[in-house]
Amino acid sequence: MNKKDNTHPHTSAIRQQMERTQYREHSNPMFLTSSFVFPDAETMAATFTGEADGIIYSRYSNPNTDELIQKVCSMEGAEDGFATGSGMAAIFGSIAAFLESGDHVISSRAVFGSTHQILSQLLPRWGITHTYVEPDKVDEWEQHIQSNTRMIVIETPSNPGLALIDLEKVGALAAKYDLILNVDNCFATPYIQKPMEYGAGLSVHSATKWMDGQGRVLGGIIVGKAELIEKVRFFCRHTGPAMSPFNAWIISKSLETMHVRLERHCENALKLAQFLEGHSKISSVRYPHLPSHPQYDLAKKQMKMGGGIVAFELADGLAAGRRFLNAAKMCSLSSNLGDTRTILTHPASTTHSKLTEEERRAVGIMPGLIRVSVGLENIDDIIQDIEQALEA
Ligand SMILES: *Cc1c(COP(=O)(O)O)cnc(C)c1O
Repeated sequence: MNKKDNTHPHTSAIRQQMERTQYREHSNPMFLTSSFVFPDAETMAATFTGEADGIIYSRYSNPNTDELIQKVCSMEGAEDGFATGSGMAAIFGSIAAFLESGDHVISSRAVFGSTHQILSQLLPRWGITHTYVEPDKVDEWEQHIQSNTRMIVIETPSNPGLALIDLEKVGALAAKYDLILNVDNCFATPYIQKPMEYGAGLSVHSATKWMDGQGRVLGGIIVGKAELIEKVRFFCRHTGPAMSPFNAWIISKSLETMHVRLERHCENALKLAQFLEGHSKISSVRYPHLPSHPQYDLAKKQMKMGGGIVAFELADGLAAGRRFLNAAKMCSLSSNLGDTRTILTHPASTTHSKLTEEERRAVGIMPGLIRVSVGLENIDDIIQDIEQALEA
């Protein structure tokens, strides 16, 4: 499926296209069909056994999801992939396709709230254990590897604390112990960061965020090495988290403009971070490409740009956080991110509210932490709204 060529990944995202129908359409049609027909019983049988290529049923694959996956494979440098109905379905599928009772996972402590719930509440039901490790101390991870460790789960940059994980080091560790390195690459996107180049076996996305980029549909993507995706496909075909062809059509179209959108998201985010850094009401600002980020050198090395998320902490904590959110006039209060519209979130009371206060503090989610998903509005308007809300 993976068409190898030398074009730039974003050119592939624009030009890679499913075969045209007899109507010679320029923009890709949507295939809202649950199943596909066969000319005869022999072809149908051969397609089911895999002797013949062909699309059977949209829970397995569909022209729209196939096209989307091909594009993401080109962008990530991955061999194959599978599209799911949400980012969490992708994360669960990428873990559950491989682990058996008795297996152990090494996971960064700073993972998405629902990923944390999968590791701590669901996997133990099936006898799968995990150890949390510190994202910025990869040198210490080796000592936590057990004889039954099968997978390393990481997210970089992390949501919402923007902690980074050294992909080169963790890739080397995974190779040394023959572990599957499973990277949530949602915050960076394949335009900014390519985990496969560092030895990741799987790169997983919530396509709901920057890939759609317009806050319309949910989606998840798993891409990676062909032999791993084979197992993911088996697991997902039979458990049924397939992405809808409609959502795949939307997200595939969105990928055509993702590089341009991200350039502006990142430019706006850096300007906002620079503005916030000097503000008296703010005790700290986090942005990967801001020199004050504790892992700035690493961010420069493995991330082409700083991403569209800025996190900052209000000096006066939780109460100041609530006042700030209520005073925002233009920016939206929402739990989503990666939209054209600037969105403000208070992680401690929303996305990460299921964690204990202690668990939140351990991953840098302080009571006054605000996450800004910086949109595509004029940066002066974004700064002005945030500035007036800070004064309130
Ligand atoms: C949003 C998000 C997810 C979950 O994706 P959904 O599409 O909401 O299921 C997973 N990881 C990260 C880093 C996210 O931001």
